[in-house]
Amino acid sequence: MSFTNLTMPQYHIWTIGCQMNRAESERLSERLRSHGYSEVPLAADADIIVVNSCVVRQNAEDKVVNKLQNLRAMKARNPLLRIVLTGCIVGQNPAELSERFPFVDDFLAPGEFPTWLQLPSCTAKPTDDSSVCSYVPIIQGCNNFCSYCIVPYRRGREKSRTPDEIISEVKHLVLQGKKEITLVGQTVDSYGHDLTPKTTLAQLLVSLNNVPGLSRIRFLTNHPKDMSPDLIEAMSKIDKVCRQINLPIQSGDDAILKAMRRGYSAQDYSALVARLRQAIPDIAISTDIIVGFPDENDEQFQNTFKLLKDIRFDSVHVAMYSPRPGTLAAREYTDNVDQKSKKERITAVEALQKEIATEINNSYKDRSVEVLVEGTNKGRWKGRTRSDKIVFFSGGEELVGKTVSVNIEKTGPWSLKGRFLATLPEN
Ligand code: SAH
Ligand code: SF4
Repeated sequence: MSFTNLTMPQYHIWTIGCQMNRAESERLSERLRSHGYSEVPLAADADIIVVNSCVVRQNAEDKVVNKLQNLRAMKARNPLLRIVLTGCIVGQNPAELSERFPFVDDFLAPGEFPTWLQLPSCTAKPTDDSSVCSYVPIIQGCNNFCSYCIVPYRRGREKSRTPDEIISEVKHLVLQGKKEITLVGQTVDSYGHDLTPKTTLAQLLVSLNNVPGLSRIRFLTNHPKDMSPDLIEAMSKIDKVCRQINLPIQSGDDAILKAMRRGYSAQDYSALVARLRQAIPDIAISTDIIVGFPDENDEQFQNTFKLLKDIRFDSVHVAMYSPRPGTLAAREYTDNVDQKSKKERITAVEALQKEIATEINNSYKDRSVEVLVEGTNKGRWKGRTRSDKIVFFSGGEELVGKTVSVNIEKTGPWSLKGRFLATLPEN
């Protein structure tokens, strides 16, 4: 390879999409740094530009294609620029893509490293990443084939990493100063079923709890059908595991859930939430919803709406159905809920959720909470509670990476504000 910058090759990574993409960008970044490359905030200053893509909905795919068009122009001006395309647009078969985007130098399946970075670090450069939290992928791919979803086609079948590999990666991250890790995958709660010997997420959590210096463990995303009693028990007992869970429901209507091929009913889901809340009374639960799935009528949407009111999630990610070519739903059904109804349904969910989140967050007022400090924002400290609430607060000195107690004075739907009380002892 040759570079325009003869001193130190510089790279820039542009990432959109889910937690898996963010985790894989972090890993690629780490690998690039260990080979002597340095990261720059502006694409215009880079010798290597990585695009980590998402195609889960049409609007994400459109953003990726736009980005690539901009890069085509940059490459025309600077032929030495190296463009790397990864993430779900690439999937398992990059041949067709190289015709569409001939100016791209490397096409990498999700999570793959380019051939010129295959060897783990040669010029071991210490990392300059100062963040406190890190994502660690533990399982790749998905076996579920929900009818609307492109992910299994692009990321392949479930493949768990071994506990040894994960534990040594987490130890390495802790040595670099990380305090919180989030284990990620499309269905983290099915972790380990494909390994010999088989293992489980619950067992992995037990092992990770013993890593000295690590303060917090989170994991996402979970499939309701894979949430075992063992995992619920582990969450309730293991002290570093945060009492917080992302449990996508997608719809609260049984006919829609069936057409989505989710493998559970609204009743099954509610019963699971009841079990979680019984075992872990203060658990914070978030979910994902798709509105406007083919044939979803008002009454079916109301079933979702009622369920949201009933369960009262801490947060809800809501998206309009977007047909993905190649999926079962795109083949079998027509995208027949008009845009206006989809928008109205999203707006209704968002308004309801804002009310619920305001009420839940209001219950934090005048309480002291444990916050892991991640950085600063507009002159205040910024961090999160164990329940994943964002907290801004003032007072105290040099707190990044510290776990502190904060008195909450003001609350809103999206964050809490307060005052520093004390630094808490390290693990
Ligand atoms: N594995 C996770 C989600 C992966 S995709 C799960 O089982 O839920 C992330 C989110 O994107 C999904 O939760 C879903 O709400 C949304 N999504 C996936 N495909 C979609 C589609 N075709 N249209 C709209 N939203 C979609
Ligand atoms: Fe997609 Fe369903 Fe797999 Fe989630 S569980 S990644 S929604 S196929």
